[in-house]
Amino acid sequence: MKFSDFPVQALMDVTARPPLVFVRGEGAWLWDNNGKRYLDFVQGWAVNCLGHSPARIVEALAAQAGKLITPSPAFYNEPSIALAKRIVENSDFGRVFFTNSGAEANEGAIKLARKWGALNKAGAYEIVTFEDSFHGRTLATMSASGKPQFAALFEPKVAGFPKARLNDIESVERLIGDQTVAVMVEPIQGEAGVVEATDDFLRHLRDLTSRRGLLLIVDEIQTGVGRTGRLWGHQHAGIAPDIMTLGKMLGGGVPLAALVATERVSCFEHGDQGGTFNGNPLMCAVGGAVLDAVLEPGFLQGVEASGAYLMKGLTALSARHRLGAVHGRGLLVALDLRQEIAAKLTDQARDAGLLLNAPRPHLLRFMPALNVSVEEMDEMLALLDRVLGNLLA
Ligand SMILES: *Cc1c(COP(=O)(O)O)cnc(C)c1O
Repeated sequence: MKFSDFPVQALMDVTARPPLVFVRGEGAWLWDNNGKRYLDFVQGWAVNCLGHSPARIVEALAAQAGKLITPSPAFYNEPSIALAKRIVENSDFGRVFFTNSGAEANEGAIKLARKWGALNKAGAYEIVTFEDSFHGRTLATMSASGKPQFAALFEPKVAGFPKARLNDIESVERLIGDQTVAVMVEPIQGEAGVVEATDDFLRHLRDLTSRRGLLLIVDEIQTGVGRTGRLWGHQHAGIAPDIMTLGKMLGGGVPLAALVATERVSCFEHGDQGGTFNGNPLMCAVGGAVLDAVLEPGFLQGVEASGAYLMKGLTALSARHRLGAVHGRGLLVALDLRQEIAAKLTDQARDAGLLLNAPRPHLLRFMPALNVSVEEMDEMLALLDRVLGNLLA
């Protein structure tokens, strides 16, 4: 079917999209309405950790759909219990609340911190967040975000999110007052352009928050579930946060996210938190299949090795085209183009059959499936090399 035959006007026009409709995916590849094939290094926005339509997710969905889609959030179901237990067993946390999106998980983290403040800190409710951070698109999570483009939108914002500077512990300290209950940080600011909190900074944040009796919340919606080569991104720094949020890869492509907290801070009382689809067996069964794969022996070492290979290839390519630094961790990698050509580059790459993401005008972000092969990375590097050659000629 031709693009012009699709009635896209029926959708709200909330973002610029190319005139294509994707109809099929398999592993690292996507096909559009014209039958054209693309090598995909966006993967559902760092979501499809096992690639497009992997057999283990297709099977988990089909099996669970045939058994029980949802009994209601008012009743227990097996897949949500099993998945919560997997997360708790493989982390320092004690309790899980499943959500349908990352923003909803962060919204829950904000509520949990405020509840904890009401019970333990005389109603303290402020959560220090960071400039350029991204925590989602609900009203509270937009308010928590430090994304400059959000600043003027949907006023008045939800109050209580003073912004510090990443990797500047004094800027955090200055914002702490009687009303402060928590600090919320991304181990790597993904949407800001793969800006890493240093391990030292995360350790200082943990020390500071512990000393001042505050909660430390890590937003691991982009860094969690193996993206950085560890199961959770904060493990690189060796810290134990109080609250963690997960999303994106937890569902391997289906809408599943989670609010995870230590036993000590899991203080919701009946009626404080819930939701019709939260913890539904269909999505939680997929989360179980994802963790089965990611926790297989050698899988995370594979992510680390692939990340190193990708960074090496990009570094060579950057030198060849006189571009800037390559940075990131595991398979969350950025290339600084040193000039504002990222939008043009992603357009031309797409024409050449390669899907890339440009979170900043001068920056490319690479977020392939965690099981990306060496051949796929070589093919991506060759395609990008060609497109860059044409663009910069
Ligand atoms: C994607 C993302 C979110 C929002 O998740 P949604 O599922 O889009 O609501 C929040 N925080 C971070 C760090 C993210 O990368």
